[in-house]
Amino acid sequence: MSRVVAITNQKGGVGKTTTTISLGAALAGEGRSVLVIDLDPQGNASTGLGVMPEDRDLTTYDLLVEGADLGDCIVGTGTANLRIVTGTGDLSSADVELMGERRRLHLLADALSATTDDYVLLDCPPSLNLLTLNALTAAGSVLIPLQSEFYALEGLSQLMRTVRTVREGPNPALRIEGVVLTMFDGRNNLARQVEQDVRAAMGDLVFGTRIPRNVRLSEAPSFAQPITEYDPLSVGSRAYKALAAEMLKRHGWTEDAA
Ligand code: ADP
Ligand code: MG
Repeated sequence: MSRVVAITNQKGGVGKTTTTISLGAALAGEGRSVLVIDLDPQGNASTGLGVMPEDRDLTTYDLLVEGADLGDCIVGTGTANLRIVTGTGDLSSADVELMGERRRLHLLADALSATTDDYVLLDCPPSLNLLTLNALTAAGSVLIPLQSEFYALEGLSQLMRTVRTVREGPNPALRIEGVVLTMFDGRNNLARQVEQDVRAAMGDLVFGTRIPRNVRLSEAPSFAQPITEYDPLSVGSRAYKALAAEMLKRHGWTEDAA
């Protein structure tokens, strides 16, 4: 069965899309089959994986709003084992268009019910809209990229409340996959303090791996490549590979990764 992971945080610019692309590519590099679903009207995950807007035919919009077949919406990327359902601007009207739909929270879960990929990574938009709720309803777990900054903990407890609400409603089995610290700068006192606080609050749910701030990570999308291909030896690439290894170990894919 696929592990469906919603990569989410109601804040924008915290590294959701970078984590989706880079972790997805790193998991694929370890031989796992990975499907990315781009749920953000900005379509950054699609662009970052090299599917330009003019090449997007059937998208997440068609999947959710038009009832297209999942298989018809999936396209390959330049990375082996890594495929995507792309996102486009028309997703921004999905909220309104689905308002009268009875199963509007379950559309993505229904669409993904037949997936066989090892991992399905859901790149969420930066708000708690119907698309994000579809992701939280379809997911087995949520992975939370967190930037170590002043309001990080407030944002985190808000997100935990959302997860509890979803558990009481459409998805009782929703788990926390973990929190990953992104754009981390260990020389910054505030960043270190926030890390301590987050680890105190969340314990083992915080991944040991921290993603450092690395300019190569921000350059990679304009070359339409995941970091593991754009600059495999960069600190950003190595960090996401370490995150993938940590996750695979937790999931029992690697026995001797200690
Ligand atoms: P979100 O999807 O949460 O809005 P993004 O992944 O798009 O966030 O990241 C926001 C911006 O920060 C992008 O320009 C991205 O390239 C950059 N970025 C993300 N992670 C890092 C990092 N670890 N180091 C440097 N830049 C990063
Ligand atoms: Mg994004």
